[in-house]
Amino acid sequence: MAGIGTLSVHAGNNPDEWKCKAMWPPIVTSTTYKRSIVESSKEQEEGISSQYTYIRSTNPTRECLEKSLARLEEAEYGFVTNSGSTAIAIILQSLLSSGDNIVVAENVYFGSNILMTDVFSKYKITASFVNVLNGDPETIESAITERTKLLWIDFPCNPSVELIDIQKISDIAHKKDCLLVVDNTLATPYFTRPLSLGADIVMHSGTKYLNGHSDVLMGVICTSNTIIAEKIRNLLTTIGAVPSPFDCYLANRSLRTLHVRMKAHAENALAVAKYLESSQFVDSVSYPGLPSHPQHELAKKLFSNDGYGGMLSFKIKGDLETAKRFLKSLKIFTMAVSLGSLESIAGVCTIMTHKAMKKEDKLRIGITDNLIRLSIGLEDVDDIINDLEQALEAAELS
Ligand SMILES: *Cc1c(COP(=O)(O)O)cnc(C)c1O
Repeated sequence: MAGIGTLSVHAGNNPDEWKCKAMWPPIVTSTTYKRSIVESSKEQEEGISSQYTYIRSTNPTRECLEKSLARLEEAEYGFVTNSGSTAIAIILQSLLSSGDNIVVAENVYFGSNILMTDVFSKYKITASFVNVLNGDPETIESAITERTKLLWIDFPCNPSVELIDIQKISDIAHKKDCLLVVDNTLATPYFTRPLSLGADIVMHSGTKYLNGHSDVLMGVICTSNTIIAEKIRNLLTTIGAVPSPFDCYLANRSLRTLHVRMKAHAENALAVAKYLESSQFVDSVSYPGLPSHPQHELAKKLFSNDGYGGMLSFKIKGDLETAKRFLKSLKIFTMAVSLGSLESIAGVCTIMTHKAMKKEDKLRIGITDNLIRLSIGLEDVDDIINDLEQALEAAELS
């Protein structure tokens, strides 16, 4: 297989597929395509007879992006959806029936949690949330019943930035006749390719690192299982939960620099993690690239390309008020939800991303009032660190 940089730049893009030999995929907005009653053998030979019918099922700009993503995730099939949340819903809806159960790592994305409980409980699908804060897959195994069809984990999970051994959990899934879904939004295929570690389906919020510029809402589903792929394709086409050709074009363009961006995100994040760990105003830092991370050895096994992603969290010395003062004092970081973009973003989870979660649930997954989540951007690392330093001082010394 070509290197990840070569794949990021070229995978899925073939100028010979376009009549005009466009170097990069044109934005094809047409919702429908001319068909012919009697398809000539010449047309069939050229492959232009009936490949395209209607935008809900196929679109050339979208297909180019889907092929690229499948190549990057080492998958046979790739699909894009109009949001990461849609990708989650499509996976659940196409693979589960009434009475089925999902076993979920408790620290999954909060939106996944809401879909799996509030939305899918209406269809008598149950979700068992398992605390895997110690990263021990055995806890997940003991929650599996004969009704369990899917296991679901995030890699890594956030905001606590902890890891579950994908290989171990996929062995457990297959021993118990279940499928493993990995939400790979935070690691991206640059660092981790879950299908190669045994997962059956990998999904993303493409809104985050894959597009990486905070200007597209998108989801991704990849698999090498033909039966699963057909089910997903059918539901996606039936519902039409697909992104616009414009968004596909933008995401496609962003993907070409994935390797450059991810490398830089990870280098900046490691430097920031080291700085925070040395600060007198910080209680603890969670970043898998730090030797002090309890799962650093596992991280070395599961992350490739000498980096550990761009997300980290830390506990500021003090309480919610200290955390708020810190956020207010930041100048380069923007206080916002979301992550995985060029710009550095900071948030206090307990009052932002996880505001609606019950206090005891928050505490179980490590979300305390002083926990701050950082998505480290691509600004100069000295400027990022100086910004954190002045904001910590302002928060603690005022
Ligand atoms: C943002 C996010 C989602 C949801 O994706 P949207 O594109 O916002 O719908 C799912 N999983 C993770 C890990 C995310 O960060």
